[in-house]
Amino acid sequence: MENNNKPENTKPGPAQEDSGCSNGDSSSKRTQGDFSDPVYKEISLANGTINRMNKDELRAKCAELKLDTRGVKDVLNKRLKNYYKKQKLKQSAAAGGPGDTYYDYICVVDFEATCEENNPSDFLHEIIEFPMVLIDTHSLEIVDSFQEYVKPELNPQLSDFCIQLTGITQEMVNEAESFPRVIRRVVAWLQEKELGTKYKYALLTDGSWDMSKFLYTQCRISQLRFPQFAKKWINIRKSYGNYYKVARGQTKLNCMLTNLGMEYEGRPHCGLDDSRNIARIAIRMLKDGCQLRVNEHLHGGELQSVPISAPLEGAPPPQRPKTRN
Ligand code: AMP
Ligand code: MG
Repeated sequence: MENNNKPENTKPGPAQEDSGCSNGDSSSKRTQGDFSDPVYKEISLANGTINRMNKDELRAKCAELKLDTRGVKDVLNKRLKNYYKKQKLKQSAAAGGPGDTYYDYICVVDFEATCEENNPSDFLHEIIEFPMVLIDTHSLEIVDSFQEYVKPELNPQLSDFCIQLTGITQEMVNEAESFPRVIRRVVAWLQEKELGTKYKYALLTDGSWDMSKFLYTQCRISQLRFPQFAKKWINIRKSYGNYYKVARGQTKLNCMLTNLGMEYEGRPHCGLDDSRNIARIAIRMLKDGCQLRVNEHLHGGELQSVPISAPLEGAPPPQRPKTRN
């Protein structure tokens, strides 16, 4: 059940100084000067008490407050702190302010691509599965999903390694359509949900590669311009590491699940199952008070960080990518 072999970013990664993730309560809407409010003293005292609790005490407190009791000590610590912070801010008359409205939906994407064992560095990965899982950030539930396989053009024959890894068979891709046709249906699906028009949304991926490598390479192969709506996304590994204060090596999919006290459901490296499990982590993080926000973008083909101070904008309305001349 190993699912941690996705190639790591080899591109120089964006700086880690921004968390891409902040507490999802009204405190983030305040200006710095407002932190003199006595409510912050109360929050700080509560945090001190929580920091002195051992794992059993944290778990017992979570149970008493009817919070999820799963996860490692750091996760329980963060969950409790967030609970008290929210409670105290709610009670405080000073809490609030208009601020940025949050995304209505988060759309998780996890591509599967052609590959070989120990992919040569110049290997051109082609997308063979395009899955999406839609999270309603108000109900904190998965509300819909999309999945299509894609016929690769440069290397139409899948390697045995790729078939074993992803569970995608030669017949599945033979019967599938090429990427330009599939992306049209992806766009139509997103439009049908009124994302980017009626509803504010953001894309979310596990790592930087889905957009900066797989989609970027595929668009060049298919002679399409990179779609505007996919230029910014939430990299959940980065958000997770910053929120729960864990090292980068502990933010692989299985690691995140384990530390949250959850198990992988489905088949690892099936794009749709991977997306569902990433969505489960995102929902858990939102429930724990993390305001997942866009933290990476592509600029002129280069992967860059989005600073935490950037306004919380939703992705633009999805449109069919134009062909490159
Ligand atoms: P994942 O989302 O982890 O399933 O990985 C996405 C894609 O990365 C896969 O479809 C493969 O193309 C590639 N990949 C993942 N793990 C490996 C591996 N161990 N060796 C070669 N390619 C891999
Ligand atoms: Mg995957």
